[in-house]
Amino acid sequence: MNTRREFLTTLGLGLGALALDGPSLLAQTGGGRTHKVVAGDTLGAIATRYKVTVTALKTANRIKGDRILVGQVLVIPGASVISHVIAATAGLKIERGRWRYVVAHHSGIEAGNAKSYGAAHRRRGMENGLAYDFVIGNGKDSGDGEIEIGPRWLKQLDGGHVRSSFYNAHGIGICLVGNFEKRRPGARQMASFTALVDWLRDEAPLGARPRFTVHRWVDKNHTVCPGKFFPYAAMKRRYG
Ligand SMILES: [Zn+2]
Repeated sequence: MNTRREFLTTLGLGLGALALDGPSLLAQTGGGRTHKVVAGDTLGAIATRYKVTVTALKTANRIKGDRILVGQVLVIPGASVISHVIAATAGLKIERGRWRYVVAHHSGIEAGNAKSYGAAHRRRGMENGLAYDFVIGNGKDSGDGEIEIGPRWLKQLDGGHVRSSFYNAHGIGICLVGNFEKRRPGARQMASFTALVDWLRDEAPLGARPRFTVHRWVDKNHTVCPGKFFPYAAMKRRYG
C-alpha cells in the first residue's frame, strides 16, 4: 500500500484520483482541505461549513447535479472573495422572502470605505449608520474588490440607500466605491460584485431569489447612481 501511495504521489496525479484513497492520503501529500460525506450532509451545508459557494464546491469536484454519497471525499476549494460574507450570513436570522431586490450603487467619490461612509451617513442623521449592506472597495481606502459587510446586514435592518422605504426594507444595498459617471468600475470590483450578487441570488439563505436593480431605476429622475459607466447591459444579461 505504501508503495502504491508513493507511486501515485510521484506521478503527481490530480486530487480527484488521490481522493479515491481517502483523506489520510491527502493529508500526507499536503493536498487541500477535504470533507468526507456523512449521512445528512448536503452540498449546501458543506459549502456553508467551509465558507465556499456550492458552485465552487461542485466545480472542484466535477459534480453535475446535487447528489453526493456517504463516504465520498470532497475536495474543498480555497477561500473566495465572499467567504467572509458566507460565514457572517450563516449566523444571521433572516426573514424568509424579505430580500426581494439587490440594488447597485456607486459612491460617487473615489475615496472612502464602509467606515468613512458610515460616519458620513451618521452625520447626515442616519442613526443606523452606513446606509448600504455591503461596500466593495476600489483599492484606495479598502482593498480592490474587497467586500465590506455593513452593520445593517449583520443586524438585518432596513437599508437607507434609496428614497423608497419599500426598497429600503426589501432591497440589499451594494455600493461600489468610485465615481462611475467618470470611469468604469474596475475588473476586480465587478468580479467581487458579481460573485456577491450570484451568491445572494442563488445560494444565500434568503428564502427568495432577489431581483437585480440599480439605484436610478428605483429612484427615477432623482439620481444617476451608479453612473453612466456602470455595465447595465452586461448585468441585465446576467441577471435578467
Ligand atoms: Zn445610489
